[in-house]
Amino acid sequence: MHRSVIDAIGNTPLIRLRRASEETGCEILGKAEFMNPGQSVKDRAGLFIIRDAEEKGLLRPGGVIVEGTAGNTGIGLTVVAKALGYRTVIVIPDTQSQEKKDALRVLGAELIEVPAVPYKNPNNYVKISGRLAEKLAKSEPNGAIWANQFDNIANRDGHIRTTAEEIWAQTDGKVDGFVSAVGTGGTLAGVAIGLKSRKSNVKIALADPLGAALYSFYTSGELKAEGSSITEGIGQGRITANLEGFTPDFSYQIPDAEALPIIFDLIQEEGLCLGGSTGINIAGAIRLARDLGPGHTIVTILCDYGTRYQSKMFDPEFLREKGLPVPGWMDTTPQIEV
Ligand code: PMP
Repeated sequence: MHRSVIDAIGNTPLIRLRRASEETGCEILGKAEFMNPGQSVKDRAGLFIIRDAEEKGLLRPGGVIVEGTAGNTGIGLTVVAKALGYRTVIVIPDTQSQEKKDALRVLGAELIEVPAVPYKNPNNYVKISGRLAEKLAKSEPNGAIWANQFDNIANRDGHIRTTAEEIWAQTDGKVDGFVSAVGTGGTLAGVAIGLKSRKSNVKIALADPLGAALYSFYTSGELKAEGSSITEGIGQGRITANLEGFTPDFSYQIPDAEALPIIFDLIQEEGLCLGGSTGINIAGAIRLARDLGPGHTIVTILCDYGTRYQSKMFDPEFLREKGLPVPGWMDTTPQIEV
């Protein structure tokens, strides 16, 4: 029995991805982070950031946690905050999916939508959330903290202590490679540090969407971005504190046109309905499998559940507007007489 919803965070199963495994001759396994209570990998960051603040004596009962987030971290923080008696004030760019905004409101987060502008702009959502936390720390009777997921390494530590250890145990130490996209870098750097401490020759790969700058950084030393992606929650333009001291063994740049068909096939053929960042991750896992050759065990992250993006990547009109492939089944209505 779990004492609260918090105990249900983590210990997610590894699910074998059948088609990706068959096509590569590797075992490609997805860590089912969509099975966390907030339905994403970011519940772990939410939990570890809040626990860290408590241990440092920064959070008082009834205190406010402020964060700038593409949505999932806000959901994770809010689930944990509600269970422990805190409030959350969430700053989200208006480009994020309606489903994530609705989930945040339903969960009881105090939501502030702001225009999406680049990080260097002082009105970027992350910077607004930092300033707001400072202001609320002075005006709120029980104080306020800034979760600061990008540069707070409690995020990465959570993955070193839980995600990496779970992957190690669940594969009986057979894991040869780990692949992930980067939002904050907590997942990729944390799992990399954890797994390398167990097995120094485990291979770590970055799967970067178009429009992110890390692929260029790790392959040419220059933070440079080109193109764009409809995926949410990933695509970083700088070296966050969570990424400091980390270098991947392989880096891949994955266009949406490579990632989305994987997501659409998984729904139809394997009963797995997953978000866009997971498509980037699995495409990266397939590329790593090809680079390592058959017979290897490769783990990636199934970041969140696909229904969180119903109005976007599962809407044929939206896909057509973006010039992306629309699977035939998405456009057809069943022709069954009743
Ligand atoms: N996928 C999704 C859907 C996310 O919301 C996030 C986090 N923003 C990530 C992947 C990346 O995780 P991390 O922040 O640990 O790099």
